[in-house]
Amino acid sequence: MSLSKQTRQSTAMLTRLSGWGRYPQYQSNIFTPISLTTCQSHLATHTMPLIAHGMGRSYGDSALAEYVINTQELDCLLDFDTHSGQLTCHAGVSLAALLAVFVPKGWFLPVTPGTQFVSIGGAIASDVHGKNHHQHGCFSEYIVSLELLLGDGSRLRCSRSEHPELFHATCGGMGLTGLIINATLQLTAIHSAYINQITYKAANLEEVLALFAEHHAATYSVAWIDCLANNEALGRSLLMLGEHAPEGELHTRHRSKLSIPMEMPKQLLNHYSIRAFNTFYYQRIRQQQSTQCIHYEPFFYPLDGILHWNRLYGRNGFIQYQFVIPQAAGMEGLRTILKRIARSGRGSFLAVLKAFGKANANLLSFPIEGYTLALDFKLAPGLLELLHELDAMVLDFGGRLYLAKDARMHETTFKRSYPQWERFQAVREQYGAIGHFASLQSQRLGLN
Ligand SMILES: Cc1cc2nc3c(=O)[nH]c(=O)nc-3n(C[C@H](O)[C@H](O)[C@H](O)COP(=O)(O)OP(=O)(O)OC[C@H]3O[C@@H](n4cnc5c(N)ncnc54)[C@H](O)[C@@H]3O)c2cc1C
Repeated sequence: MSLSKQTRQSTAMLTRLSGWGRYPQYQSNIFTPISLTTCQSHLATHTMPLIAHGMGRSYGDSALAEYVINTQELDCLLDFDTHSGQLTCHAGVSLAALLAVFVPKGWFLPVTPGTQFVSIGGAIASDVHGKNHHQHGCFSEYIVSLELLLGDGSRLRCSRSEHPELFHATCGGMGLTGLIINATLQLTAIHSAYINQITYKAANLEEVLALFAEHHAATYSVAWIDCLANNEALGRSLLMLGEHAPEGELHTRHRSKLSIPMEMPKQLLNHYSIRAFNTFYYQRIRQQQSTQCIHYEPFFYPLDGILHWNRLYGRNGFIQYQFVIPQAAGMEGLRTILKRIARSGRGSFLAVLKAFGKANANLLSFPIEGYTLALDFKLAPGLLELLHELDAMVLDFGGRLYLAKDARMHETTFKRSYPQWERFQAVREQYGAIGHFASLQSQRLGLN
């Protein structure tokens, strides 16, 4: 039964909540304000710490808490300058809704993650990256300014020139500085909704890293790695490069959507089925190099075409493990970590490798110049121990883990690899966020 807006405005609903990985799950009181005024008065009177919840596409526990504010009703487009491409909107607007309006007008997101079912607030709070980080950086690079609701319910605008320390703590700050309510974002002009894609087949890790270096000037690049391949085939992959087509139709697509109706029985997802899938995926591309002109949706959001695909991993859920290691550690680091994963036999359907450009000034933003690898692991006995071992390797190579994917990192791992965490806490203290905003993740990481 759906509740009326009036009811949602005044009550919090007790719901079992989880992130996209469906681990962990938590009983939360969810409050869904239908206006900024309701939201503001709620924050002013609420005494328990709470956390913002966008579209729940972070994998772990960063948007989970005993008390959660869901921003889905804060979804208005407020202003658009047709000459400059600057858009002001509420933080609950999804990237999908924004693209549906602006692609037909010839505008696109300057940076987009691998799903469009993400809110503007969530994209800022995680400072998301896309396939063009090596060229264009993170999402926050295109945020002109944003407005926050602080713990006492007051509104504060911040940007690189107004309260810059709060701006740099909020972008990538996982909702821990306040509730983002509005943002002004610079869109990018396009002439077509299509992408010219080139796919290269790489026989191993050496080849794919050489291809990344050779095609550094490509706007978009991403490689899919067969993480179960070993020995001379270790790191065999398909590298996809993309450029916006110079002309073509400007339209969004309404693809028929497949749906995973229920949790998959656990016998279906095992070492053998993942190996078979990975081999098939790699072998289906025959040529060393192939070109295609494809719509932006399958290029940027291949998984959005399968609804509820997170149910594939069964009832217990899964963990996405995403790390970055500096460029200097590149080949050796990736080889060591991939070998350990291949040896464990715990494969991932999707292991995605990207090259990152320089880090930005945000205190907890994930990317540093180097390589990032993301893999999905089904929750099963022994997994947490393996990931703990991988953490030690990532730290030894000078890397770190992505907070938007994290569900289990230890506090010491976090504090060693995010050296600006103390400055982050100082900004939170200064703007009254401590004691007002907290998630299961922030408590686990010692950001109290
Ligand atoms: C299929 C898939 C592909 C993905 N690909 C990528 C990728 O390529 N690159 C990448 O960087 N990420 C990627 N992600 C992760 C995703 O982009 C981030 O987790 C994003 O933050 C999710 O946004 P959301 O609106 O669902 O936020 P939620 O998951 O609801 O929240 C995430 C964080 O943002 C905070 N937050 C949300 N709204 C607000 C607000 N209004 N004010 C303050 N804080 C807020 C929450 O408190 C929480 O800490 C992917 C996720 C999926 C499921």
